Amino acid sequence: MELPFAESWKIKMVEPLRKSTREEREQWIKEADYNLFQLKSDQVYIDCLTDSGTGAMSDRQWAAMMMGDESYAGSASFFQLKETITKITGFEYVIPTHQGRAAENVLFSHLVKAGAIVPGNSHFDTTKGHIESRKAFAVDCTVDEAKDTQLEVPFKGNVDPKKLEAVLAEKAELVPFIIVTVTNNTAGGQPVSMQNLREVRAIADKYGKRVIFDSARFVENAYFIRTREEGYADKTIKEICAEMFSYADGMTMSSKKDGLVNMGGFIATRHEDWYEGAKKFCIPFEGFLTYGGMNGRDMAALAVGLDENTELETIETRIRQVQYLAAKLDEYGIPYQRPVGGHAIFVDADKVLDQIPKEEFPAQTLAIELYIEAGVRGCEIGYILADRDPVTRENRFGGLDLLRLCIARRVYTNNHMDVIAAALKNVYDRRHEITRGVKIVWETELMRHFTVKLERL
Ligand SMILES: *Cc1c(COP(=O)(O)O)cnc(C)c1O
Repeated sequence: MELPFAESWKIKMVEPLRKSTREEREQWIKEADYNLFQLKSDQVYIDCLTDSGTGAMSDRQWAAMMMGDESYAGSASFFQLKETITKITGFEYVIPTHQGRAAENVLFSHLVKAGAIVPGNSHFDTTKGHIESRKAFAVDCTVDEAKDTQLEVPFKGNVDPKKLEAVLAEKAELVPFIIVTVTNNTAGGQPVSMQNLREVRAIADKYGKRVIFDSARFVENAYFIRTREEGYADKTIKEICAEMFSYADGMTMSSKKDGLVNMGGFIATRHEDWYEGAKKFCIPFEGFLTYGGMNGRDMAALAVGLDENTELETIETRIRQVQYLAAKLDEYGIPYQRPVGGHAIFVDADKVLDQIPKEEFPAQTLAIELYIEAGVRGCEIGYILADRDPVTRENRFGGLDLLRLCIARRVYTNNHMDVIAAALKNVYDRRHEITRGVKIVWETELMRHFTVKLERL
């Protein structure tokens, strides 16, 4: 008999979870105005709101914390971090920042001027924000396949080389760099193939442009290359990462994802001119160059986290857990964005609650139902998140309406995955009884999903 797959770690410290009753949850979600961001974490049993900064550190990381060097300048922990990053990416210049968006802010302050065009694959919202706030433009060149949730293709996160080349052929002089997000978060944690990274490099070289990887989930991307792309099955994750980064000029990183820490970020590059340019913005925004908004101990833990996560056993355990949950949903016939990506399941709420009109926000309603059913907190990535059209002030119903269930790294067991799947199945089985959704009673103009107040209809 083939042995089943199991985690590459055992548990040394536990944190109790609070279970609650359906009556309590009905009361709490009402008090939270049916907005899951307004719940207190102890009102949640299994928290799938985000995988950002919610992971568990290893014993080696906690040990490294004790060795952190809190020197203002020249911290030993910074040099440990820098060495690890250089070993994994080949990038010689490293600037720490307090999180991923801060890395964007520092580097883009140097690189992005008004009127610039930054092509890429579904820019992450903070990335787009840091481009647009500088009166520049983010042009999405993602492959069209990414839009079809039911299409099974291995690298749905890819850049469409034709779209990219079209932008450069027309407006190369306005392009400061190309940005490739690995994995493509906005398209559902979908990977980008090595072949595609090579193609992007070739197009960039043709037009004399540089390439940045938005690298929050670069290790997940490397794992998908190893398991899905020909020629990589026998390579180590570190070898694959080294090849991926060989096609880039620099990276911005949110360490809260594949860095396996709760807070942190960095910029890394092979170009001295980028480093010199970014340096000038690091000091006023983030702090001195050898800490950039991070504690010494946090840099020490990040160095270990990056090394640990780029080992096959660690990343395989993570992705296989997400795939385990996806297989359960397949068993129950619950539609989600396919194939499942690296960090989350995106349930297609429009298809589940098909009796609820768009105007009553099906994905948000599904998120509320799942919470009431079992205390599982997901996140609406749909019509509420999409905000209103800035000109017409109408709701934007053009995109997808998804319920995202993020899986925190090394936090929950597969028993918890079983609970999530069963809870979803119970809601799915009574979907025909759920005929009314929610209405907005209070909202802000931008990013309303964090604070919106809702009423059940
Ligand atoms: C999370 C994330 C960011 C922003 O990082 P923060 O640490 O949340 O500031 C940028 N890009 C991608 C792809 C991300 O996933």
